[in-house]
Amino acid sequence: MKSSIKKSTFKAIYRLLDHVSPLSDDCGVLCGAACCTYGDVDDDELGIYLLPGEDKLFNGDEEWLRWSCEDALNYDFPDSWYGDLYFVRCKTPPHCPREMRPLQCRSFPLAPHITENGRLVLILHSAELPYACPLLENPDAYPLQQDFVKATYTVWKHLLRDPLIFDLVEMDSADRLQTGCELKIICPG
Ligand code: SF4
Ligand code: SF4
Repeated sequence: MKSSIKKSTFKAIYRLLDHVSPLSDDCGVLCGAACCTYGDVDDDELGIYLLPGEDKLFNGDEEWLRWSCEDALNYDFPDSWYGDLYFVRCKTPPHCPREMRPLQCRSFPLAPHITENGRLVLILHSAELPYACPLLENPDAYPLQQDFVKATYTVWKHLLRDPLIFDLVEMDSADRLQTGCELKIICPG
């Protein structure tokens, strides 16, 4: 898929998010790093998809990652997504080179959402998950750090300039509205 975001921009986005995290302490100790360790590392059905163009930051032979390349048309992605889509699975979770974590890992537990009047907000991840995340289950007990929220908002503002990424966020947002999903807005923009 043709991404309009340059490699240097993805690098800058990674750098910005290198310095922030959801809590001041490692939230992985609350749950045994559930979002990294759920499932079987050898399960081909599991994986993290890279955003269009994010693969520019990798060379495909990272020892800590297992790769698969799929046809976007076979998955529930926007109609504008076609061609190669890359999935990665960590071989030794929760251990990974922190500065190379994919964007999905960096953004979680926040998700971008476009409101009915077209504004970008950040919400707590609302999709069903195969594990329990304390930050989602008990957000009052674990308020997210403001620098993490702000940096994540800035990043999604940039990412939405890419038409393919915009289409994905728009599709997910429309699905939430259609299913009457309760939105827990963390950053109203
Ligand atoms: S984001 Fe949630 S599931 Fe992942 S390590 Fe932190 S608390 Fe656990
Ligand atoms: S890249 Fe790191 S943060 Fe992301 S799932 Fe793998 S071990 Fe967890």
